[in-house]
Amino acid sequence: MAKVIIIGAGLTGLSTAYHLEEKGFFDYKIFEKEQEIGGLCRSVFQDGFTFDFTGHLLHCNDPYFLSFIKKIVGLETFSQVTRNSYIYSNKVYTNYPFQTNLYGLPENIITQCIEGFVTKPQSSKAAKTYHEWVLQNFGAGFGKYFFFPYQKKIFAYDTHKLTCSWTGRFVPNTTLKQIISGALTPKTKNIGYNATFLYPKKGGIVSWVQKLAAQLINPIETNTCVKTVDIKRKIVHFTNGNSEPFEHLISTIPLDTLLSIAKETSTTSLKKAKRNLLCNSILNFNLGINKKNISEKSWIYFPEKQFPFYRIGFPHTFSKNMTPPDCSSIYGEISYLKKNKYEQQTLKKALLQTKKLFNLKNKDIITQKILSISHAYVIYDHWREKNIEKLHKTLNKHSINSIGRYGQWKYSSMQEAVLDGKEMATQILTTKEPSFFIQKSTSQHKIEKEKQA
Ligand SMILES: Cc1cc2nc3c(=O)[nH]c(=O)nc-3n(C[C@H](O)[C@H](O)[C@H](O)COP(=O)(O)OP(=O)(O)OC[C@H]3O[C@@H](n4cnc5c(N)ncnc54)[C@H](O)[C@@H]3O)c2cc1C
Repeated sequence: MAKVIIIGAGLTGLSTAYHLEEKGFFDYKIFEKEQEIGGLCRSVFQDGFTFDFTGHLLHCNDPYFLSFIKKIVGLETFSQVTRNSYIYSNKVYTNYPFQTNLYGLPENIITQCIEGFVTKPQSSKAAKTYHEWVLQNFGAGFGKYFFFPYQKKIFAYDTHKLTCSWTGRFVPNTTLKQIISGALTPKTKNIGYNATFLYPKKGGIVSWVQKLAAQLINPIETNTCVKTVDIKRKIVHFTNGNSEPFEHLISTIPLDTLLSIAKETSTTSLKKAKRNLLCNSILNFNLGINKKNISEKSWIYFPEKQFPFYRIGFPHTFSKNMTPPDCSSIYGEISYLKKNKYEQQTLKKALLQTKKLFNLKNKDIITQKILSISHAYVIYDHWREKNIEKLHKTLNKHSINSIGRYGQWKYSSMQEAVLDGKEMATQILTTKEPSFFIQKSTSQHKIEKEKQA
């Protein structure tokens, strides 16, 4: 029996394990349902091409995270890339972000955006919905030509029903001066949280996560899927028939999944909550192209309805090792609400349009990989806003922490996954009784394990 059980060896689970060990705590076990570790940060290798589960780029703006990356992986194993991304609308490519780069758009659209910004509603009350937030911060023109259609597409959800608590660092602000300057000149300053990013020189995004996993002393039990969590008896049962008792459970699997496999004590509140947790899914198509440098753009946003995808990116611009020599690659992202069924026709249309946009013939496409992401973007609706904290408190009472992007049911990055794991390890070891935490050095732990073996 281990005191702590971690479910999921994605970045959050691995970071939790790493930080527990770093503090000298080895009395834990980590289980992963897939054959490989990494979760959403895995990469697929096919016919000489490397595909991630859509674009996965490393943004480091936290000093601890940067030092962690330096220590675990080494900065020299990454390329530092400057974003070169665009928006395609009205048959024009404009620089991202839209709110500072109107240059090249038809005059009437530029006018509407500027007019909307100048006359945006002034309110002392905080916006309740994403729709209101856009109107208050950018005005009706920017909303109409980018924010409303794009957000509706990426979340597959009505922008009037979305809250704005997630916007924070993800949506760069603008000023009248920036808007005018960006309407008169072709390229303004690259702004926003992802203006530059790190990407592994070799091996796709999974390569650095594998280096983190390799630092762990305890084994990661892959191919081990948790089937049920008996909250009352504090036991997890696996699909292979085995079970493990726990004193404390750290779950990094999606919260709706955890609630559906949880055997509850008495209330049905958790089961009910499961139905209200909304997220979307993504169909990610990847193409390996037998042509050199088909685009120098990092990625392109597609807000218009006529395109089924909301974004298309070019992994060959992140690292030259993503493709065989003289080749290029493309990833495309189509989102749909998880509870809805995905239409095959949409994928067909998306592939046809991609070929047309980038002038590709069938013979140019030498490999194709379709990846499916069942939990992609959490929907920040009013139900989530009101209930998510209560839900976590209920789980905490049973010595269960549900953490990470899907565990906490939030919109977050790889950096946050590492920080969440670190915080969890600290929290668990500082709030338990002293007897819970028998500190050992790594060498002491290794000697004991060898003796047991
Ligand atoms: C489309 C998209 C693009 C993104 N792009 C970026 C980006 O560019 N930069 C960035 O920093 N972040 C990006 N992210 C976010 C990033 O992927 C996540 O923040 C991070 O991977 C979350 O890690 P996690 O460990 O919390 O979750 P996960 O990676 O989902 O890990 C959970 C693990 O639990 C396992 N599991 C599930 N059920 C069970 C079970 N029953 N039993 C055992 N194991 C189970 C899963 O297999 C998985 O390995 C993106 C996310 C999406 C959806």
